[in-house]
Amino acid sequence: MTDLVLYEVHGPVAWLQLNRPEFANAQNVALLSALDAAFLRAMADDAVAVVVLSGAGKHFTAGHDIGTPGRDIDKPFDRLATPWYPHADKPGAEAAFVREADAYLGLCRRWRALPKPTIAMVHGACVAGGLMLAWVCDLIVASDDAFFADPVVKMGIPGVEYFAHPFVLGPRKAKEFLYLGGRMKADEALATGMINRVVPRESLRDEVAAMAARIATMPRFGLALTKMAINQAEDRMGLRDAVDATYGLHHLAHAHNTLASDNYIGGQDVQSMKKQIED
Ligand code: ZN
Repeated sequence: MTDLVLYEVHGPVAWLQLNRPEFANAQNVALLSALDAAFLRAMADDAVAVVVLSGAGKHFTAGHDIGTPGRDIDKPFDRLATPWYPHADKPGAEAAFVREADAYLGLCRRWRALPKPTIAMVHGACVAGGLMLAWVCDLIVASDDAFFADPVVKMGIPGVEYFAHPFVLGPRKAKEFLYLGGRMKADEALATGMINRVVPRESLRDEVAAMAARIATMPRFGLALTKMAINQAEDRMGLRDAVDATYGLHHLAHAHNTLASDNYIGGQDVQSMKKQIED
């Protein structure tokens, strides 16, 4: 079995790479679990000062796995980030609520709180669940071919589980992004303040490496405290409460879909979601 997340350390930088390129790095729980292990490995290594997250192949990540042969949505898994009880055998809305509270929301919050600086290095697609991975990193550097989209309103759902949209885009752009469900190109994402830099595809890695090397010269504890200071400020501006409130609406939508059509993502699939961001 190939590694779902590649892990390399060069100097003070750990390079993590999502590694399901044949499926645009679609995130199943196996991949998220491997990513969590990689992040924790980087935290435990005193030689690592900065972590970079990227995707192998043509895309950063196309989001949660809604249709590959490795989709593991109905499988039980050991808790990853929270003390929630086992979910897979639970009835009604309970299974999805508990599963996503741990594997999606719980992991995102854990990664956002990692005590070392993290950089998302984004190329190609960064869609839906992909946004969550990029947003919980401290910095986002994108290549000029990168694009961002959250088409899940098509599923009748108000955005992905980690609902940071109004904070990273501003309320007005967040509505446009979600209502239209189309692509936001890297330049536009930069103009909204959602990402830090846009660089040519061929210099993406060098640019990120230079940034990471410079950050790595700062004192470790100073960086950890700076990160905490800004994350705490963001939470006091309402991020944490907004994400909690929307998580309930998100699961009302999953439950509604299941009641109305017996399909918790509203009968959508990879093709229909792809079409939404291509039109
Ligand atoms: Zn969901």
